[in-house]
Amino acid sequence: MFGQQADRVMALGEWEEYWQRNEIGFHQPQVILKNNIDKVLNGRKGVRFFFPLCGKAVDMKWLADMGHSVVGVEISEKAIRQFFEENNMTYTEEPVPAIPGAKVYKNSEKNISLYQCDLYAFSSSIDGHFGAIWDRGSLVAINPADREKYAALIISLMAKDCRYLLETLLYNPDLYEGPPFFVPDEQLHSLFGSSCDIELLQSVDAMTDLQRQWGLDKFTQNAHLITPKSS
Ligand code: SAH
Repeated sequence: MFGQQADRVMALGEWEEYWQRNEIGFHQPQVILKNNIDKVLNGRKGVRFFFPLCGKAVDMKWLADMGHSVVGVEISEKAIRQFFEENNMTYTEEPVPAIPGAKVYKNSEKNISLYQCDLYAFSSSIDGHFGAIWDRGSLVAINPADREKYAALIISLMAKDCRYLLETLLYNPDLYEGPPFFVPDEQLHSLFGSSCDIELLQSVDAMTDLQRQWGLDKFTQNAHLITPKSS
């Protein structure tokens, strides 16, 4: 089902090299979350958002400007510095005692904290639970063999009223090795279905020249809303 992707492993250093070479085709200069923000907020104000594998997503600034708070995790220090600099925000940096080698970069005025560390070193004991999670380029970017570990971490970070917006990508994994990786809808049910409800919000054709260069013939982007079952 996963073609050549099942055993594909990207080392953290490879991501850093992408950043150093400025090969960051995944970065989008526009706010992507706009389309589904009402579904995620569900009328709530001052929501704590978590951005796993945040890169320098401009959505983080957009949410903070609306009065929400944002916590992100990203391995590349360059990405984090660029986020603050490109958005004209000052920031402080300090070590995270509970995670050896990690740093947290903060703009306190806007309530944005970005942790520079491996995602799997992060947990609710570091920065609590979240009312919303925005997952674009995250589940599809981690190594396919780590998906169960990833889902367990995400579930452990959810507050009871959490609304988790997840973008997945559907394409033929025999044609391209990734990342981004192919994540079939059926797998979402095995990853999240025992503790969460999963609703497909949109399914759109997202084929561009980039996907044609990768050798793909079809490329679909699905947006899912995942919520804890008891809520
Ligand atoms: N969500 C962002 C970035 C997607 S690309 C966006 O949509 O623009 C994936 C990002 O995750 C890269 O910036 C990479 O440096 C980072 N990354 C990959 N593996 C990671 C890990 N295990 N822990 C923390 N960051 C990681």
